[in-house]
Amino acid sequence: MIRQTELVDKVRAYDPDADEDALNRAYVYSMQKHGLQKRASGDPYFSHPVEVAYKLTQYKLDTASIITALLHDTVEDTDATLDEIEQLFGVEIRGLVDGVTKLNRLEVQSETTKQAENLQKLVLAMAQDLRVLMVKLADRLHNMETLHYIPKPEKRQRIARETLEIYAALAERIGMRRMKEELQDLAFKELFGEARESILKRLEFLRTQGKNQVTRVEEILRELAVAGGIKDVKIYGREKKPYSIWKKMESKGVTFEQLSDIVGFRVICATVGDCYHMLGLIHEKYHTIPGQFKDYLSTPKGNGYQSIHTAVIGPQQQRIEVQIRTEDMHDVAEYGIAAHWGYKQGVGADKVSTEGKQYRWVRELLEIMEQSEGAEEFLEHTKLEMYHDQVFCFTPKGDIIALPRGSTPVDFAFAVHSGVGFTCVGAKINGRIVPLKHTLKNGDQVDIITAKTQTPSPSWERFVVTGKAKSEIRRYIRDQQREEYVTLGKAILTKTFKQEGHDVTEKMLDPAMAVFKKKDVNDLYAEVGEGIINRNQVYDAVFHTKKSESAGVKNPFDVANLKKKSKKSVPMPIKGLVAGMAIHYAGCCHPIPGDKIVGIVATGKGITIHTMDCDTLENFADSPEKWIDVAWDSSGQDDTYIGRLRVSLSHETAALASVANVIAKDEGNISNLKITNRSTDFFDLIIDVEVKNARHLNNIIASLRAKSVVQSVERV
Ligand code: MN
Repeated sequence: MIRQTELVDKVRAYDPDADEDALNRAYVYSMQKHGLQKRASGDPYFSHPVEVAYKLTQYKLDTASIITALLHDTVEDTDATLDEIEQLFGVEIRGLVDGVTKLNRLEVQSETTKQAENLQKLVLAMAQDLRVLMVKLADRLHNMETLHYIPKPEKRQRIARETLEIYAALAERIGMRRMKEELQDLAFKELFGEARESILKRLEFLRTQGKNQVTRVEEILRELAVAGGIKDVKIYGREKKPYSIWKKMESKGVTFEQLSDIVGFRVICATVGDCYHMLGLIHEKYHTIPGQFKDYLSTPKGNGYQSIHTAVIGPQQQRIEVQIRTEDMHDVAEYGIAAHWGYKQGVGADKVSTEGKQYRWVRELLEIMEQSEGAEEFLEHTKLEMYHDQVFCFTPKGDIIALPRGSTPVDFAFAVHSGVGFTCVGAKINGRIVPLKHTLKNGDQVDIITAKTQTPSPSWERFVVTGKAKSEIRRYIRDQQREEYVTLGKAILTKTFKQEGHDVTEKMLDPAMAVFKKKDVNDLYAEVGEGIINRNQVYDAVFHTKKSESAGVKNPFDVANLKKKSKKSVPMPIKGLVAGMAIHYAGCCHPIPGDKIVGIVATGKGITIHTMDCDTLENFADSPEKWIDVAWDSSGQDDTYIGRLRVSLSHETAALASVANVIAKDEGNISNLKITNRSTDFFDLIIDVEVKNARHLNNIIASLRAKSVVQSVERV
């Protein structure tokens, strides 16, 4: 195992300002916390974090990263807490360790996920600070090195695949070529061990056969440089890695023998000028292969990579690939942003606070990104930023759903499938029940609970974030409302026709359909229900009468005086609802303005308004999600509401007329009347009265009670 002094010396070698004390404390702390824990290999567990830390010294990472590497498994696997770590090592380390811990938990959840692309994004989004990602990569690298100790082959393969698809890809993305190659090779070994073996054997064979050839090309290139007056140049041939050879064979569908470019040549120059000079010399002497020349020197890749690539028909008439770059660029190519950042650190020109250091990291990453041009690359870079506006959550099966930040379980449900969205009744996040308007976080595992009888609640529209959820809910409400209007319109027409002694049929309505230019009878019903078309107009269209012109006459005994309703489309008299929602006034309690009310989401019916003291509400006591806070909108003064009264009258001449008069005098309008009980002395009535509000109804009740024929009056 790497000793404490060995590690600290290694850090101090590239960063003389490193906080030696903190490094020592972290080493000891981690060792104590992991105590006697063992790895699958039988080694003490503590050897793992130390290995990870040591790997990162190769990339010249800052002290905070090295400390984080030492502590990276303490929170997850020991009794250490983040608070304790903050106390001992400060808030920066706490944040970094927390980041790595979260990424580790992610790994456990993603067992079955196949969406590598999304998982990459998720890791990036969660890492926030790239140092978190680099510690994670080193952690994965060490785990891959010790992978053979894991007994279950399925588990080994799963880890190897994940390494290849996610972590190697991420290493490449941030320009850590060496890390990428190491991860790829280890994963390749696990997944396609035989293919790797055979490629290695053939490479070995080529080496013994063509060793002189490689040396020969190196010599020729060196002579070329010297003749051109370029001093201080390093030239070497480099074999491609088995995995990238295999990849090429796969993607091009060729055999190993058909691969022409197994060896690439690197030319490392002292200055940028020399790089271009060298390029000129090579191109002057050998034929270039079209399409192979790329100048990443003037236009670096998104991950900071800089180099000139070219391919020529070389000295022995074979195809050779050449990469030309400076030493600095070479380090960036090998170690990525880590190297870039390390250099600036080493210069030590600007001494800044720890906080400054942390942000400089990000700033420099942005600088690298800004250097690149071209829309495609720009997009590629800004993606990293874009992930901060997204959250990535898991389905119980391990699939990832990407959503905009601020999304809720309802958004998630609609993203999975409209059907899931329409029937969702609740959600479990990481096993715990949460409200449907809960905000999702990166890495949450979301389990949507559905019920066949559930329909979308209009109140969802207030908190959903995604366009899909919004539009689906809106469409649903619109459909519901239309259904509502269709039913109402049909009822109105049936009643109107019946009054005149006709049973309405759809066939009978054909003339009206023509007049109002409707193709579907439901469209006609809907507009009648909504009050756009007057019921009497429909009647007139069918029977060629002029009923609609005389409909203005007020008749207190008109059974269904819908005149007011049809004057205009009904404005929203209730506050607290989404515009356009279908509402009804409950038939059980007949709420009217002034009453304390509550809205109940009725399956398939929009919202039903009940008075707060209505007995029916008991039925909904167990489903609080159906309750909606509403209040009367006082601006809706002109509207009328139905108040239902139970009246007991003495059986006298004109008793009914006097009741009608009282109500008419008080500006009420009887909309329905039914005799429920009749004896020789009394009869009981149910009277529905159109009133403006509760006070209006109370006035009418008071007036009725003042009449001698009235035995009793009460609101139903
Ligand atoms: Mn670990």
